Amino acid sequence: MAEERSPLETEIRRLIAVAGPMSIAEYMRLCLTHPQYGYYVTRDPLGAHGDFVTAPEISQMFGELIGVWVAVWQQMGSPENVRVVELGPGRGTLMSDALRAAKVVGDFHAALVVHLVEISPKLQQAQEQLLEGLGVPILWHSALAEVPSGPVIIIANEFIDALPVHQAVKRADGWHERVVEIAPSGELAIGIARDPLPHFEATLPRGLRQAPEGSVYEWRSDTVALEIGRRVRTDGAALIIDYGHAWYGLGETLQAVAGHSFTDPLRAPGEADLTAHVDFAALAQSAQIIGGRIHGPISQRDLLRGLGIDKRAAALKTRAPERAAEIDQALARLTATGPRGMGELFKALAIADSKLGKLPGFET
Ligand code: SAH
Repeated sequence: MAEERSPLETEIRRLIAVAGPMSIAEYMRLCLTHPQYGYYVTRDPLGAHGDFVTAPEISQMFGELIGVWVAVWQQMGSPENVRVVELGPGRGTLMSDALRAAKVVGDFHAALVVHLVEISPKLQQAQEQLLEGLGVPILWHSALAEVPSGPVIIIANEFIDALPVHQAVKRADGWHERVVEIAPSGELAIGIARDPLPHFEATLPRGLRQAPEGSVYEWRSDTVALEIGRRVRTDGAALIIDYGHAWYGLGETLQAVAGHSFTDPLRAPGEADLTAHVDFAALAQSAQIIGGRIHGPISQRDLLRGLGIDKRAAALKTRAPERAAEIDQALARLTATGPRGMGELFKALAIADSKLGKLPGFET
């Protein structure tokens, strides 16, 4: 019924009526970042009372270990001015824990300016509140391209998964982009564009070109990957952590989550979080083409182990024995393999200036 539609659904229907069916990527972009009704624009979705929980919200250990990683600054020759950039910083928890832990790194605090790339006014407010006491300068931007050039360390946790994905489905006459349209029943529905995508097969990874009819392929624009590679190829390093696959594959992974449960991505647009697996191979390839050196991807478990999570958990337990069970639980959740743990599903990819050699956590 019309009165039950979310305000964004009304807007999306209007756009489809005017311009025709929209790509899945355009739909996802509107759902997440529409300037008035977008999911991230209207709320703080994180935490137990929100829709999902992320690694830095599970335990301070996660951000603290990222704080160990950013000591890569020393490998960069300890530049006097360094931009510490976080893409999609959520509540600012990771940055807060990381900077606290990185206080022990020589003159690092005196050298850094923090740049936060965030489109959500609500989350920006939360970041301001949490980070103001740290005594470091902080600037906000709506895109990485706005961050001034120069030596840079870039961090992104669960950011790429929120960037829009396109989907195409293979038919006898070629690959057709999947679109959101209005079905004869009046509901929003997934359809396919009438004409096949020109020359699409040639852009696919070689192993996927013989895919059977009905196969779905998903991809993201490479704008962000190219920009990260361009930024770090001289005097820079980036650490990207997200859930996804290390190698190319077929199949759709777009999912909607609200109140910690999966829902239909077409229901109540703007009210659920939409994400899709990160294709780490594609990300690495784009960043490498433009000159970044690739490290990994490795599992989140291996990264956190390599950065010393077991020792950190032990130290925390010695300091606060009453929290031992909670700390063990967080450690397990962050590093466990299998569907309930984040250790294997989540992966870490680093992209850096090739002069830097091996990076913390990626030594093996
Ligand atoms: N890194 C945080 C939050 C992950 S949620 C954590 O681990 O807890 C995704 C974050 O990316 C949110 O801060 C969201 O507002 C931001 N975001 C999503 N799409 C964005 C875009 N296109 N540009 C900038 N920020 C975006």
